[in-house]
Amino acid sequence: MFSEIFRPVCAGCGEDSPEGIFCAECADSLRSLKMFCRTCGHPLNVDALTCGFCPSRRYDRLFTDYLYAPPLKELLKKIKFAYGVRGIFHLGELIKQPESVFSGYDIVTPVPSHYTRKLRRIIHPADVLARHIAGLSGKQSERLIIRRKKTGYQWKLKKKQRIRNVSGAFTLSGECSGKKVLIVDDIYTTGSTVNECAKVLKINGAELVDVYALSCSGYY
Ligand SMILES: [Zn+2]
Ligand SMILES: [Zn+2]
Repeated sequence: MFSEIFRPVCAGCGEDSPEGIFCAECADSLRSLKMFCRTCGHPLNVDALTCGFCPSRRYDRLFTDYLYAPPLKELLKKIKFAYGVRGIFHLGELIKQPESVFSGYDIVTPVPSHYTRKLRRIIHPADVLARHIAGLSGKQSERLIIRRKKTGYQWKLKKKQRIRNVSGAFTLSGECSGKKVLIVDDIYTTGSTVNECAKVLKINGAELVDVYALSCSGYY
């Protein structure tokens, strides 16, 4: 656990990796997601707005770069449990979308983190990614969506519980009327959190709401 303080190790396999967060071998084994359902992130043989199996969503399009699989999964887990601190500063480097994808938004906002989680883990992956993406077009990431009720950990829950857990959980800390908004997260699983965020934005007049998640688990 503490070895990375003394020598940089690969977040995937734990071998020495002085150049980057992943060694060359692990970097090669990252599971890029090129064609997928733009609603639920399920891998497909064609790029499609919907796969026909996912529920309708309040956001317009989903963008992602990777399947949530090793070695990225290992890195994100290490960050989540706060013992892969070096990794978090490299998350932006993993984004593969062309910069033009991110240029048309008025607001880039991270998915809000859990308050108590925030205390335990001062830096949140969604914040780091949102800051990186906003920076690509000279903007600042804005914490537009905030939690108004304490919710339990999504990853501990089953799909139906996840939807209930986040229902009515969010509110806005600013204006989004007529704006194009990009919501940013590190992992997209069932999509119930970003969907709930998108709902709040659309109700408050957002013109367009897209989602960028660094990785998608690829389940419905
Ligand atoms: Zn490695
Ligand atoms: Zn789908």
